Amino acid sequence: MEEKIRIDFAKLVKRVATDKTGDFIKFDENKCDGCGKCTLVCSFGLWSVKEGKAKISPRYREFCLECAACWEICEAEAIDFSYPAGGTGVVIEYG
Ligand code: SF4
Ligand code: SF4
Repeated sequence: MEEKIRIDFAKLVKRVATDKTGDFIKFDENKCDGCGKCTLVCSFGLWSVKEGKAKISPRYREFCLECAACWEICEAEAIDFSYPAGGTGVVIEYG
């Protein structure tokens, strides 16, 4: 029987100074074509698409894993990702 492994990302990482990260993901609505690929790759489901345009959760800085998958998958280049300043953002504890 196939065994499924579930990873609780929230327990794998901790956040450091989330109030100092700034907006490390930027989104240009004008470039977005509503393809929905960002919603498929984000482990935390931080992207959604409504009425043909993507939207990122206003609380993404609390949950984002900084994997950059959304930036990588967006062919329209509507998403801009840069790592938060050193000493802020995600720290992998058991990786
Ligand atoms: S992948 Fe890019 S173009 Fe597609 S819905 Fe997301 S932001 Fe918009
Ligand atoms: S960087 Fe990764 S976790 Fe963060 S919003 Fe993009 S896909 Fe989601």
